[in-house]
Amino acid sequence: MPTPTITRLSKSRIVSGLQCERRLWLETYRRDAMEIPAGSQAVFDTGNAVGELARQLYGPGLLIGHVDNTSRALAETAEALQRTGKRQTLFEAAFQHKDVLVRADVLRPVPGGYDLVEVKSSTSVKDYHLIDCAIQAWVIQNAGIPLRRVYLAHINTAFVYEGDGDYSGLLVVEDVTDSLADLREQVPAWVHRLQKVLRGDEPSVATGEQCSKPFECPFFEHCRVQEPKGPKYPVTILPRSAALIHALLGEGYVDLRKVPAGRLTNPIHQRIRHASVTGRPFLDPAVAGQLDGLGYPRHYLDFETINFAIPRWAGTRPYQQVPFQWSCHIEQRDGSLKEHAFLDLSGDDPTRNFAESLLRSLGTRGPILVYNKVFEAGRVVDLADWFPDLADALLALNERMVDLLPITREHYYHPAMMGSWSIKKVLPTVAPELDYDDLDDVADGGQAQLAYLEAIHPETPVDRRTTLDTALRRYCGQDTIAMVRLLQALAGR
Ligand code: SF4
Repeated sequence: MPTPTITRLSKSRIVSGLQCERRLWLETYRRDAMEIPAGSQAVFDTGNAVGELARQLYGPGLLIGHVDNTSRALAETAEALQRTGKRQTLFEAAFQHKDVLVRADVLRPVPGGYDLVEVKSSTSVKDYHLIDCAIQAWVIQNAGIPLRRVYLAHINTAFVYEGDGDYSGLLVVEDVTDSLADLREQVPAWVHRLQKVLRGDEPSVATGEQCSKPFECPFFEHCRVQEPKGPKYPVTILPRSAALIHALLGEGYVDLRKVPAGRLTNPIHQRIRHASVTGRPFLDPAVAGQLDGLGYPRHYLDFETINFAIPRWAGTRPYQQVPFQWSCHIEQRDGSLKEHAFLDLSGDDPTRNFAESLLRSLGTRGPILVYNKVFEAGRVVDLADWFPDLADALLALNERMVDLLPITREHYYHPAMMGSWSIKKVLPTVAPELDYDDLDDVADGGQAQLAYLEAIHPETPVDRRTTLDTALRRYCGQDTIAMVRLLQALAGR
């Protein structure tokens, strides 16, 4: 067990501590127990890229470096602020007060003091951003800097990139000074409380809602394994039912199987409970007839997309889902099956080739089966907006789309799905031989995005790119063959 001796805080560590005191303690003394989620590096890279862009937009100015050397960063900041002559904008200026260290994204000189601009890669102001700003303002003012206003700059989702590296308008700036007044008064108490936490032993906190709000806690496994094992089917598997789950837990029901049948009114909840109690799957025989009428050829379609905080291709918006890959298994009436596929790892705008190849493969007749239509249909609408000459043909695809998700939700449930109809939960119950755990490198949509980013990076070696190409094709193809197997299972074949 480590000896608790560290009391230095930063704004992010205070935010962690406000989420959960145990999290702050573990971040400080047990980083080895942290499970870093896939994609963290990408999130980090996005934050850095947006910060860098902000420096261009707010420049010129002086960047205070020394990321790993606090003393030098503090000294360089102090020196820059004391320099006589023309005051300048500072980026990443370092300040400390009561053992709390902050780095200010942008500090701009204004008559009588400075304005602080905190830059975020999110698309709106969140409550935890205000906490973040309040901590910074408290430290900076107590370090003797007269702060006039505090602004929060975040991504403007209405921005459309026109090309040529022109990103003016990407960030929207909100004055949050007035929203910080109450929070700023609370900062000293937070600091006092959290430094006390750091001087003690690991706090005893049970897992609960705080483990995912406002952020997924990377210590969840560490905490969960220390708790008594729960029931096989906890009430928490009931989907989209936070209020009901809260009420059931309050009534003492932890095990879904112990909840009286009459306590649940939603037919889906009743079905989940019944399957959990009996251990038997539910399949509505009426669905077979509904599926028989679909006709042929049947196109089982899935897209993979990428979204950039800072748009990469002209005509796209921040965080817009831009499709770079599709897979389609085409099934004929005689049962024969063939996969068509498209994947562009060139790093160039993939959308025109994506749209044209899609139209060629899907033709003009036969149902297009997707799982969660809103996603694929939305991407087709985007493509139609970008390419008016293809719009009619593209929008005609949406008319042929059949969504297997609501059909499955309405007519099928297996206890192993644990209250979820995600294709990853459904597939093992209808085609256990198709296991996503068997896929290398890419086994879910998030990993597909990371693989794409790695593949298009100019420094990725050719053989690695080939490996990623194969992994992406295998993953997307598995998603569409999964739908083939699902439809067969629903039809009782
Ligand atoms: S998993 Fe939950 S209880 Fe454990 S440290 Fe994280 S937030 Fe706290």
